[in-house]
Order: sequence, then C-alpha cells, then structure tokens
Amino acid sequence: MNQIETAPELTELVETGGQTTGAQWLSRYSSSLLGVFGTPQRVLVRGAGCLVWDADGKEYLDLLGGIAVNALGHAHPFVTSVISSQLATLGHVSNFFTSPTQIALAEKLLELSKAPAGSKVFFANSGTEAVEAAFKLARRNTGASPDSAAKPRTKIIALEGAFHGRTMGALALTAKEAYRAPFAPLPGGVVHVPFGDIDALRSAIDETTAAVFLEPIQGEAGVRPLPASYLKAAREATSAAGALLILDEVQTGIGRTGKWLASEDAGIVPDAVTLAKGLGGGFPIGALLTFGPEVSALLSAGQHGTTFGGNPVATAAALATLHVLESQDVLAHVRKVGRHLRDGLAATAGVTEVRGEGLLIGFDLDADIAPAVVAAGLDAGFIVNSPGPRTIRLAPPLILSTDQADRFLAALPALLQTAKDSQ
Ligand SMILES: *Cc1c(COP(=O)(O)O)cnc(C)c1O
Repeated sequence: MNQIETAPELTELVETGGQTTGAQWLSRYSSSLLGVFGTPQRVLVRGAGCLVWDADGKEYLDLLGGIAVNALGHAHPFVTSVISSQLATLGHVSNFFTSPTQIALAEKLLELSKAPAGSKVFFANSGTEAVEAAFKLARRNTGASPDSAAKPRTKIIALEGAFHGRTMGALALTAKEAYRAPFAPLPGGVVHVPFGDIDALRSAIDETTAAVFLEPIQGEAGVRPLPASYLKAAREATSAAGALLILDEVQTGIGRTGKWLASEDAGIVPDAVTLAKGLGGGFPIGALLTFGPEVSALLSAGQHGTTFGGNPVATAAALATLHVLESQDVLAHVRKVGRHLRDGLAATAGVTEVRGEGLLIGFDLDADIAPAVVAAGLDAGFIVNSPGPRTIRLAPPLILSTDQADRFLAALPALLQTAKDSQ
C-alpha cells in the first residue's frame, strides 16, 4: 500500500492520449458511453491557451471554450499550479467542515458582484445545480403579498427560449419542448412568457408568483440579449409583487461579456444570481448568490446540501481564475477583442445579424447552413457551435488574442462557401 505507484499506460493516456486514433476512440466511445450527446465531433487530448489538439494530432483554435467555460484557455499555468497545490494539500472535506478557499471565494464573489450587506453564497458543482438551489430558494418564498389574502406562491416565471439546465427543477424552467416533453411531469408551477415582452411579464406576475428567472443574454437560444430596460422593469414588477428576481448568469457571468455580471449596467439589485461555467476556469463549480439578509434566510440549516459543492480544489481553482482575470485586467481585453470580432463579423458577406457582448457572440447567416459551418470549421481547424440552424455561437477563452480573432475572420468567408457547397 505504501509503494509509489507507477502506471506508464495511464500516464500516457493522460499526457498524450496514447497511440489510439480518433476513429478508434470514437468506436470505443459508442460502445461504452450513454448516447445522450450523439457522436462527439472530435477526441481531444491536449490544450494550451486558445488551442487544442485531437487524437490524430490536428490543431484547432478553440472559439467555444468548452461552452463559455475555459475562461483562461486550456492548461493555464497559474490555475493549474494552484489546483495542484490545493489538491496536494487538502482535496475534499465534505460540508461538515469548511476550508479557507471556500470562505475566501464566497467573500470574493460577493465583493465582485457588489452584493449588499447580508448577502450569502451556496456552492454547487455545475450550472444546473446552482439553478436547482435557486429553484428551492424560490419555493421558500412563501410569504403572502401585502395586498392579498394568503394565497400560496406557487408560480415561477421563466422566458420562452430559456435554458437553465437539465436536472428536473432546472428542466422545468428550460423552455425547449424537445428537452422537456420526454420527462413529464416536471416540478409544477412554472410558466413561460414571450421573450423580451415586458407587458407579458407584468401580466403574468401576480400575488402567487414566487420568482422570475431571467438570463440577461439567452445563450443556448442563440445569444439573445434582454435590454437593460427589460431587466429594470422586471425588477420593479417583481419587487411590487413580493416575487424574487433571479438572474441566471451561468453563461454570462465571470467577465464573459466584458463585465463581471452581464446585468451590471442595468443598475438593479437582483434577489439571487446563479454562476458556473467560467467560474472555475475549466474546473467544475457552480454558485448561488443570495442578495440581502431576507433572501439569504429563505433556505435554513438542513434544507439544501451537496457532498462536493464548495470543495477546496474547486474553490481554489475559482480563486486562481478570478485572480488572473483581475490582475491582468482581462475584462478590458474582452471588451476590446469582442468589439473587434463583432465588427469583423458584421462586415462579412452572408452574416445577417451579430448579437452579444464581450466574448459571448451569436451571429446569423443568410441560409440554414450553421451545422455545415461547424463541420467546415473543424476541418479547417476552428471550433465553433451552432445553437440554431442559421446561428453560430462563439464563446472563446477570454484571453483570445486579436490575431487569433483575425485568423477566424479571415477564414470565415471560405467556411461559409464550403458550407453552402456541401448543401
Ligand atoms: C449551461 C447553462 C446552465 C446549465 O449548466 P450545466 O453546468 O451544464 O449544468 C444553466 N443556465 C445557463 C444560462 C446555462 O448557460
């Protein structure tokens, strides 16, 4: 038991992926992995900064960043070293205990989000878990509104096009019928109202409404921003009715839009914010921030929990990520490169609309060729994503250089042509 283990095959698997080809791996994949993701596009073995390499040695510029996750790119040396030293010191303790990095991260997130006094943090391991915690928080908003008899607050409002995750509570908030229908019945009381229609939201909110869930920019729906005026009006309507306003910033938070939170400019104080994707710089972690003492008291001892949530390694990874984002003023870089990329996209023939902020960008094409553009991109060494038949989404590492952005812009006309030719 005390001898030092060596396993050359395992070391090779981790460090190079070994001698197996991509096609061989994919055949083993389909015999061993549940089919929920279809066939993966490539088998990736290694990454550095904004580049990744597949099992056949081909290089890609990663313009998706693991879906807005790899904020500092792949294998960032500082994040890697902090994760390694935390793991070598103390890796997991359970929530019967706490650890310095957990507390320091909670404080840091409250500071960055300008949370009012009495705000608190709950740590989870993913976006959907952060949303589950928010869903349970909403269920605990049981107080009757001042101007009504004590009707129970059973209604939760989300938007058409919303994506909040895949576990049952988060799925109840997610709008897409194809995701929901196979799993009915979902937790009840959720209604979806048309996107961006403030009158529809106002008329849906009543004294039975526990909460409204909003993404400041709908990511999975193709990068659709809600105007600041909508967020303000939603804040007013929820406050007046005693309903919570919960912002899902799992995709838009942690500097993705060139601001810590995408909702920052709206000048509102939400009741809760969910975070995940970019928070750990690639390491899994999610968080629910509850704003102010009253909302923070809605969930009390024993009412929620998690084994892994807030563990020393994940919270150290997030502290390291936030440190680099702050110390190198990465957010200013995100605003600059994002603007450059969006301007270049808008000037590309065949691109009909460009949306988003910072480095969360969606653009529409003049034909239903988006999946073919993704395939042409892979062949040409670019990773992008198509959330819709004519929409491409970019969510690259926040450290994407202007040169790298230009490489993609220069290649795009040919990718669009290849995609059209393949139809
Ligand atoms: C990705 C996402 C989620 C779900 O996060 P997972 O980590 O995949 O569970 C929830 N909300 C939004 C807005 C997201 O973009």
